[in-house]
Amino acid sequence: MSNRPANTPKDAAAVILLRHDTDPDNPEVFWVQRGYKLAFLPGFHAFPGGQIDACDAEVDVRNAPNPETAAMISGAARELFEELGVLVARGSETLTKGQRASLLDDLESGRMSWPALLQHYELYLDTDDFTYVGRWVTPPFNARRFDTWFFLVKCPPKQEPNVIVGELESGEWRTARDAYDRWMRDLVVAVPPTLHALRTLGEGLTPDLVERFLSIPQAHGEPARRITFRPNYICFPVRTPTRPPATHTCCYIVHNSDEMLVFDPGSPYEDEQQALAECIDDMIGEGRRVREIILTHLHPDHVGGVNALKEHLGGNVPVAAHAQTAAALNDVHVDHLIEDNDVITLEGEPVIQLRALHTPGHAKGHLCFHDEYRGVLMTGDNIVGVGSVLIDPPEGNMRDYLNSLERMLALPMLGVLLGGHGPAVATPYRKIIEYILHRLEREENITGAVRAGASNLKEIVERVYTDVSPKAHAMAERAVLAHLERLRDYGVIDEASFNSITGFAGLS
Ligand SMILES: [Zn+2]
Repeated sequence: MSNRPANTPKDAAAVILLRHDTDPDNPEVFWVQRGYKLAFLPGFHAFPGGQIDACDAEVDVRNAPNPETAAMISGAARELFEELGVLVARGSETLTKGQRASLLDDLESGRMSWPALLQHYELYLDTDDFTYVGRWVTPPFNARRFDTWFFLVKCPPKQEPNVIVGELESGEWRTARDAYDRWMRDLVVAVPPTLHALRTLGEGLTPDLVERFLSIPQAHGEPARRITFRPNYICFPVRTPTRPPATHTCCYIVHNSDEMLVFDPGSPYEDEQQALAECIDDMIGEGRRVREIILTHLHPDHVGGVNALKEHLGGNVPVAAHAQTAAALNDVHVDHLIEDNDVITLEGEPVIQLRALHTPGHAKGHLCFHDEYRGVLMTGDNIVGVGSVLIDPPEGNMRDYLNSLERMLALPMLGVLLGGHGPAVATPYRKIIEYILHRLEREENITGAVRAGASNLKEIVERVYTDVSPKAHAMAERAVLAHLERLRDYGVIDEASFNSITGFAGLS
């Protein structure tokens, strides 16, 4: 069985900035919304921070227990300065706002490196200003991973954070309780370390504060298995034999006080099935029952663990899917057919209603699920948080796919997309539009290649997929075929050219 080595996490540091003289019973913290164009978690609410630079290790950090901690503190201080203009360095107390701005300009413009800048102005960092509150590692389901050290830092008096737009969309002071409440009310999307910090700070700046920060294994670098991007929606990534760069499929456990639905338990590997079963057992132990196992579509990386889970649960839990998925599956028995616009209601607290949307394109019987009250769209493999979506005829159909994306785009008030691979998408409409434009751009280039005389799939791929490694060309030929079918259906390419180019490869 495949056991791909996980992509190595990169060192990073983040700062949880506390307001100067904040109320210790209800502290205020500066949180930011990450830039929409960032490759890692765009649009998420988080704390300022980023990847460690090689030069961070050259900085004078007093009282550090070891060079590694010193480099992390240096990186945290640099990121805080670069992203919010807040300079936490000894000796900087006498600098005016204007002087700090000119230092920042020196750093941003590259006139001075971070170590040179501190040295030039006779500044140094002190470990006492940076309270270590944990180290979190991005779970392996993301292609980009970080090993992030978190530091609690008091904002120096007379300094006010100022979001430097680009990496960040916005930022604001909020009490930790209020920030957490915004997440509870579905207004923001956040990852586990952010939520843990807000919950911990929300209980006040008590003497055991650091202890509470460090009280869970995830704060010591053990990746979280249950990821709750939105209340009531647990993402439980399981390792699967899927298409790189994805290595995991996101199984989702949608739950309230009484019931739960399990979507796409896709792993064929016993250890992963076991981990999922333990999570579900825990939730059953808290008084819930599994209402159904639901499949978004037929692909093996989405159904590989269905039978094992069903057996684990005593065989009584029904499996539900679209009729076209049910008809195509041999090894998995589907008990309940879901049709377009069916509403699944979870009774309990809170009541959760999911409307099924038949959204073919990636697969004929593909379903998405829309919780319109909560702004959640479960997108299956139509939109994913890592990698790309393959449209492979005849199961895949480009015309259906683009129609499905347009239907998704027309849904009101979307706040988050939960896809079949990778992290949640916190910028739903931007993402859907990006997907549509990407396909249309490819299609325009394919049309151009055909008009310029490309006479078979291989030639079209060579002209159009110049951004894709030759290893992926066989896959790209399937996508080109899907586009050509759509162009033929719309009369852009005539039947004879289609047949000659595809060599009748199109089976539909
Ligand atoms: Zn799939």
